[in-house]
Amino acid sequence: MGYPHPPHPKETVVLSQYFGDPEARTYEGWKKRGGYTALEQALSMAPGEIIEIVKESGLRGRGGAGFPTGLKWSFMPKEKTKPHYLCCNADESEPGTFKDREIMRWTPHALIEGCAIAQYAIQAEVTYIYIRGEFTEPLAIMQQALEEAYRHGILGKDAMGKKGLRLDMYIHRGAGAYICGEETALMNSIEGRRGNPRIKPPFPAAYGVFGMPTTINNVETLAAVPHIINRGAAWYKSLSLSSPKSTGTKLFSVCGHVRKPGNYEVTMGFPLGELIYDLCGGMREGRKLKACIPGGSSVPILNREETESCLLDYEGCIEKGTMLGSGGVIVFDDSADMVYQIMRLARFYAHESCAQCTQCREGTAWTVRILQRILAGEGEMKDLDLLLELAEQMTGKTICVLSDSCAAPVVSGIKKFRDEFEAYIKGARRPVTALA
Ligand code: SF4
Repeated sequence: MGYPHPPHPKETVVLSQYFGDPEARTYEGWKKRGGYTALEQALSMAPGEIIEIVKESGLRGRGGAGFPTGLKWSFMPKEKTKPHYLCCNADESEPGTFKDREIMRWTPHALIEGCAIAQYAIQAEVTYIYIRGEFTEPLAIMQQALEEAYRHGILGKDAMGKKGLRLDMYIHRGAGAYICGEETALMNSIEGRRGNPRIKPPFPAAYGVFGMPTTINNVETLAAVPHIINRGAAWYKSLSLSSPKSTGTKLFSVCGHVRKPGNYEVTMGFPLGELIYDLCGGMREGRKLKACIPGGSSVPILNREETESCLLDYEGCIEKGTMLGSGGVIVFDDSADMVYQIMRLARFYAHESCAQCTQCREGTAWTVRILQRILAGEGEMKDLDLLLELAEQMTGKTICVLSDSCAAPVVSGIKKFRDEFEAYIKGARRPVTALA
């Protein structure tokens, strides 16, 4: 099991403060570090009060969409006529993103505490923690922590000693499909169906898992909740370097051509250039930064100038024409072949398409075929227009955004690195035929 790096002075460690500390994984260790005090405090409040605090804090979903968490919770019916459910999305499968698994590996009780607070706030009977099938180690750690939480009366009947309060939590192991991270596909998968996204509306707060009102939150989002309850909404809100609409800290999973890849926790609005050059040690010897995908593989690519001037928050990324997404930062130096990299991304999406929508099923497959044709030196200039036209047909027209996710790197790639595509077409680059 790998240990994370010691915190860099420029990091703001909140969620990651106990990464690398094996004792924090256990119930006793978590209690010693102040664990479950936030849950105790939350249970002394009315559910609506907790929702207001979370709204006030400005916490937004860390899974990719960035939807305000408190607002999402407030969509649950106030009059409770049916069971309510909470789903924790731990299906982290976005290429370049590896932060949720670290939260589960090092601080499983932080996630359980966050889930329990959310569960109480939305008055849900049950939380399903949906963990990606390949995460065998985080799964085992979470299972052990859950057993401890039941044993110590945190969960179950009369949870936390509160008469009549029942909090139940189950782990549901996924089978490794990327699309099951999409919230409605995740719910289908929990129900034992094929993990296909559902058409929305109805939205999960009205018709969720088993047809009941449901809220779905990401691991990092829920793990932030105990800190907000303990330290207050104003404290969380004060953690913001740029836009008041982006608050708190965020874990960024940095991979690719940097000297020190890993998870880094910084305050919202932190400069992307500083993250790459200072915290991650910059590029490898003799290499220069070429491009970056800042929010997991499904967001538009930034070129060097854009990367160096981008601020890491929801608004800063939009200003540069991309998105903060899940915070998976993929860095490319000047040795990277952007056409090849984009083909590999497109191939991932083509493989993971659930095939319900024609634009996605056909569009992702054709995108890969055309990119492979270009790489093989058999492309024509009109193929670039064809790729852009395909991308347009794949964007905003399907049940979920997987199709858009495939199109985004292609469009931004052609726009920013067109010369590389043209070099293959003109025969100025050696064709790539071994397409691993
Ligand atoms: Fe399935 Fe793709 Fe349609 Fe999403 S966009 S529902 S993955 S076919």
